[in-house]
Amino acid sequence: MDAHIETRIDIIRQHLIDPEICIRCNTCEETCPIDAITHDGVNYVVNAEVCNGCMACVPPCPTGAIDNWRNVVRSEAYSVDDQFGWEALPAQNEEVDAPVEVPAQNEEAPVASDTVRGSTVAPWSAARPYVQLYTHKAPALATVVGNYRLTDAAAPSDIRHIVLDFGALPFPVLEGQSIGILPPGTSADGRAHHVRQYSIASPRDGERPGYNNLSLTVKRVQREDSNGSGNGVCSNYLCDLQKGDVVTVIGPFGNTFLMPNHPDSHLLMICTGTGSAPMRAMTEYRRRRRATGETGKLMLFFGARTRGELPYFGPLMNLPKDFIDTNLAFSRTPGEAKRYVQDAMRERADDVAQLLGDGNTHVYVCGLRGMEDGVMQALESIARSHGLDWPALWEQLRREGRLHLETY
Ligand code: NAP
Repeated sequence: MDAHIETRIDIIRQHLIDPEICIRCNTCEETCPIDAITHDGVNYVVNAEVCNGCMACVPPCPTGAIDNWRNVVRSEAYSVDDQFGWEALPAQNEEVDAPVEVPAQNEEAPVASDTVRGSTVAPWSAARPYVQLYTHKAPALATVVGNYRLTDAAAPSDIRHIVLDFGALPFPVLEGQSIGILPPGTSADGRAHHVRQYSIASPRDGERPGYNNLSLTVKRVQREDSNGSGNGVCSNYLCDLQKGDVVTVIGPFGNTFLMPNHPDSHLLMICTGTGSAPMRAMTEYRRRRRATGETGKLMLFFGARTRGELPYFGPLMNLPKDFIDTNLAFSRTPGEAKRYVQDAMRERADDVAQLLGDGNTHVYVCGLRGMEDGVMQALESIARSHGLDWPALWEQLRREGRLHLETY
């Protein structure tokens, strides 16, 4: 068919989400300013009748699954129900390949910069990451070389440090990136389990320096009131792995939540529970480089229910005080008041403000979705009470790749 005629019969550039890569974290649905994104028990999908192509959802997506487009005749656009049934994206229909206009942006709709709280760019001095080297169609295989419990034996949470080795297979990663794990087996409807994403807890040069391995921090998800059917599929799979087992991996993912590489850059790290994984990676990288004379400050706020549930408690406490300023917040210590990371930040307001006012400071927040509001409010009140212009500073932090939020 003539391309010119096709354009006139209204071809749209339909926005789609790749069900093979999507980790179902809900970020896109929360970010969409006009409720064009929805989900069922299986897939996240975009309603072509509502989406205006504003792109607000694209930068926050941790895997890039959101950034898929197909030229379709408007009357034949994939419906929401079509997309709920997909296990993979459809191929581009080559007959509908005429140049199309990008959908006009609704002037009323907020654009990405107004809806995304954190940076959508990496720090200027970050190393360049590799992303999506391994995919569903061509995954990597890694061998388990370690699986250690991080939480006290008596603690209710089973959080594990799992080390995966890639042998001779190139698998370059940076601190702050994540990988996808494909758990074996199928769900009740017979479909292969979808990918689960985990932050890497080790530095770029390996869990063991010089080895082609990496580590993950995984919490076993168990539903107390179930017969086991509600248990986390992938977390239980990972937590039960034995040395020598082989795991199917895709990725790496992530090109913005990365650490600065320039000397004297400071890290302000705020995390809860297993959200500590990227902070451990960055801290360990800096620790290994300490001998080179890097002098940037590291300040950490780390929240957990109790001391026994705090991953990496022992190693963290052994780090020199002049290397990292560690502040812990426990919410369920018997006999003590509930304390969250944002409470600890307020107690250290003078030092947090000093870091915020320094153009070399990079802020990282990772963990529970619920902490994000509290942490942002704490940053704002600390900045304001110390004479910093928060709206201007916030915008500058975002623009310069110095405010990174990853909460699920
Ligand atoms: P958790 O044990 O449930 O909670 C850790 C601590 O956070 C507890 O002390 C908890 O207090 C506290 N907390 C709860 N609500 C809070 C709030 N509004 N503000 C501040 N602190 C709050 O944590 P977890 O099970 O390890 O979960 C960690 C989360 O991190 C998971 O949701 C996981 O998906 C996410 N995660 C994200 C990434 C990533 O983004 N890359 C990586 C790893 C993990 P109470 O429960 O006592 O109220």
